[in-house]
Amino acid sequence: MVVKSEDGRDLRSFRFKDEDKSQEVRAVERRILLGTLADQLPPDSIRFSSKLLKIERTESGETLLELTDGTRLSAKIVIGCDGIRSPVAKWMGFSEPKYVGHCAFRGLGFYPDGQPFGPKVDYIYGRGVRAGFVPVSPTKVYWFICFNSSSPGPKITDPSVLKKQAVELVQKWPSELLNIIDTTPDDTIIRTPLVDRWLWPTISPPASAGRVVLVGDAWHPMTPNLGQGACCALEDAVVLARKLASALNSGPATVEDALSSYGSERWPRIFPLTIRANLVGTLLQWDNPVVCSVRNNVVIPKLVQVGPLLEHTNFDCEPL
Ligand SMILES: Cc1cc2nc3c(=O)[nH]c(=O)nc-3n(C[C@H](O)[C@H](O)[C@H](O)COP(=O)(O)OP(=O)(O)OC[C@H]3O[C@@H](n4cnc5c(N)ncnc54)[C@H](O)[C@@H]3O)c2cc1C
Repeated sequence: MVVKSEDGRDLRSFRFKDEDKSQEVRAVERRILLGTLADQLPPDSIRFSSKLLKIERTESGETLLELTDGTRLSAKIVIGCDGIRSPVAKWMGFSEPKYVGHCAFRGLGFYPDGQPFGPKVDYIYGRGVRAGFVPVSPTKVYWFICFNSSSPGPKITDPSVLKKQAVELVQKWPSELLNIIDTTPDDTIIRTPLVDRWLWPTISPPASAGRVVLVGDAWHPMTPNLGQGACCALEDAVVLARKLASALNSGPATVEDALSSYGSERWPRIFPLTIRANLVGTLLQWDNPVVCSVRNNVVIPKLVQVGPLLEHTNFDCEPL
């Protein structure tokens, strides 16, 4: 990984393996990850484009799901993995995720003849703005720009406007980043207000209610500052699958206990991470010039110990 300042100066570079032997970074394109997971399932087990409109519990204890196309499904178990605006979480009494004061642009630079970068992550720190890029395939490079904004701002649907706004934020930054943005097809650029939800014990509802349970961002939206949101969603899935399999093998009566036990096991992992990601984001988004100068000239090059900072990624959810 290489960390630079906005004027292109190298502040620090290191290899993850040198900092902590168990460390490595893998950048995966979302589309490839989802396709790979979906391919493990029997054909036709996924029904796409099924937007949930309404959810209610029936007298028989089953859960009725109504989709926007009018389809009604009666479910024995519902796993709500429907992201930060989860209608399932809302129905279970969770509050809306809270905007944390910064937004992110993301995009995928496309190099049809092969991208020129080595397998490393580049970070660039500015004042109240930071950016990064990493190759995700022989032809694609993922990039992001995170910037302070007092409000989430209006929803912009014109992708060329998004690209223009992203470029304006880093106009005078190293040309490498600007070139990647330039190679990015407009329609892969998105702008996301960053949000999280802190799951205070006794105040927040539990992860499950009867036979309805939440997984991933639907339960624990966290800011991306530690790069752990999707990783935690995958960990959730492994733990939940193991608990459910064991409950179903020993009779359906224990399903509710299994879902509740999943929530208790996962909470100590995801609650501290949500808080830590939020605090790291606040530190990294500082825009005070004096603070940023100390960060660039003292903290990053001389003080930060990378190994302990990466400790949170060393989590073993054990195989299924
Ligand atoms: C800028 C940024 C950078 C990030 N970087 C990283 C990173 O480096 N590493 C990392 O691990 N994580 C990262 N994350 C977090 C990661 O993207 C999320 O944590 C992850 O996508 C959560 O997965 P999920 O399946 O829970 O939810 P989602 O990926 O949001 O999936 C939810 C699904 O539910 C569907 N859905 C929504 N509403 C309905 C409805 N009403 N009915 C039916 N379906 C519905 C959606 O269409 C979607 O398919 C980042 C996030 C952001 C914003």
